Amino acid sequence: MLLKPHLKLKRITDIDFRHLKDLDVRTLLLDVDNTLSTDHGTELAKGLYEWIEKMREGGIKLLILSNAKSVRVKPFADKLGLDFIGLGLKPLPFGYLRGAKRAGEKLKHTAIVGDQIFTDTLGGRLAGVKTILLTPIELEKQFSFKVRRKLEKIVFKIHKIEDHKE
Ligand SMILES: [Mg+2]
Repeated sequence: MLLKPHLKLKRITDIDFRHLKDLDVRTLLLDVDNTLSTDHGTELAKGLYEWIEKMREGGIKLLILSNAKSVRVKPFADKLGLDFIGLGLKPLPFGYLRGAKRAGEKLKHTAIVGDQIFTDTLGGRLAGVKTILLTPIELEKQFSFKVRRKLEKIVFKIHKIEDHKE
């Protein structure tokens, strides 16, 4: 079950307190590309500021965990007022462990929010955190990504992964 997320939703802004309560999660580690923004894009996902504010008010701790270099991640972190870990080396577990530790949170109360099964979800499962998989905001054009997205489709079928319905 290493490739199966605990929860599948479309957009980051679809995550609400009920989902987090069901997962027993109080800290979220947030991916950047195709989660907070488009791949290599600079624009923030629609409604992101409001969502972050809502989460903060609800006592949810947020931290960015990205495989991108810090120079790419820092502008997002600054804009959103969030702490961050760049060069996260997902799916290796170290970044997840660092993130949870920095937030002062137990792993079982921490979740990764990201768009890729083979990095975000797999790494989260290996690290022992909860995993929330999102639909990528926009599909990537690079060949390596196209292969990865095809493989993801197979995993979706095998594990019957579907968007969570209310
Ligand atoms: Mg991503």
